Amino acid sequence: MKEFDYIIIGGGCAGLSLAYELEIHKKLKNKSLAIIEPREEYKRDKTWSFWKVTPHNFDDCVKKNWTNFSINITGNTNHLECNSYPYQSIDSGLFYEKINNKLRENGNISFFNDLKEINSENSFLFNSVPNIIKNHLNLWQHFCGVEIETESDFFDDSIYNLMDFDCEQRESVHFFYTLPYSKNKALVETTWLSKMVDNSQKDYDKQIKNYIEKNLNLKNYKITYKEEGAIPLFYPLNKKERNKINIGTAGGMTRLSTGYTFLNIQEHSKYIRENFENITNINKFEIAKKYQFLDEIFLRVLEKHPEKMSEIFFKMFEASPNTVIKFLSNKSNFFDDLSIILKMPKLIFIKALFK
Ligand SMILES: Cc1cc2nc3c(=O)[nH]c(=O)nc-3n(C[C@H](O)[C@H](O)[C@H](O)COP(=O)(O)OP(=O)(O)OC[C@H]3O[C@@H](n4cnc5c(N)ncnc54)[C@H](O)[C@@H]3O)c2cc1C
Repeated sequence: MKEFDYIIIGGGCAGLSLAYELEIHKKLKNKSLAIIEPREEYKRDKTWSFWKVTPHNFDDCVKKNWTNFSINITGNTNHLECNSYPYQSIDSGLFYEKINNKLRENGNISFFNDLKEINSENSFLFNSVPNIIKNHLNLWQHFCGVEIETESDFFDDSIYNLMDFDCEQRESVHFFYTLPYSKNKALVETTWLSKMVDNSQKDYDKQIKNYIEKNLNLKNYKITYKEEGAIPLFYPLNKKERNKINIGTAGGMTRLSTGYTFLNIQEHSKYIRENFENITNINKFEIAKKYQFLDEIFLRVLEKHPEKMSEIFFKMFEASPNTVIKFLSNKSNFFDDLSIILKMPKLIFIKALFK
């Protein structure tokens, strides 16, 4: 069986981001890499959005940048600016195509559907398949989104809606977001933060239709694309091993209070590339401990008081948008953190702290 110096398990966002980062920095010139990916073909399946707080390799896969956004709770809307950190949406179809075209140029890189097809005993592994034992206690962030097109102009594409809580909550946390790519095209996505053990809650199609027709007041449109999935709002098992590094969601790159993962994946890829020659000895790359701690408290509040979360998010954005963006994107300083913490309802957070 064939052997490789390196193996990436899972050719999704993290696996391909890492392979690309290594390839463009010529780290695979004299080394062999196998990428294990079960899917038969790559097609657009996700939209990754984030505030651009740091440079990344995929500006040419961005569908749109926005510098204005809004957040809604029932009866109240806040309009905000993000000129310093534009919000970007990456089209996964363009991302997969760009990376796969680049990787094909290097004969040292091979793709397989299953790890069993090769001998992995002596290789260094980068694993992006999370080790999760599903149970009823864990919180997940569920996504379901549709891209819609209208015949005539309908959307204001100069502003996106980050969170609209004006929808059914069902004892968990539920909001919609709308990303208008042009005046007649937008992604409308629903997100539930919940344990979601009851399948009857998964009436995404009905929820989205209802939202488009009632909240957006749009009747004539066609759906051109759909995406669906869930990410764990807890850290999958991620122990340090001599010949293996977990990456992506499996490697703890999801910010638990928000689900944002894409830019953390890019920073992790860069860290691995910078330390590639010493890969067996590097320290584990983590989201800073202070965010892990604050997110844990935040999720405790979310579990205990889901009905308060819309107000909490809304209040958080009463701080300066740049401060909130930096905080939610792991780039805040002590004073930014303090100004966010002071916006939070004190009693329930203190109780959650001592739980
Ligand atoms: C619908 C959706 C929308 C999201 N939107 C955002 C967003 O807007 N912003 C943001 O920052 N984050 C977002 N996320 C979170 C996160 O960025 C994505 O989940 C991202 O794809 C995580 O990358 P990953 O490589 O860890 O996982 P994936 O991209 O899921 O890659 C894992 C890969 O492993 C493969 N695989 C599975 N089983 C095996 C196996 N046994 N052996 C080998 N390979 C296997 C899969 O086919 C897949 O290709 C979103 C997630 C979802 C689900």
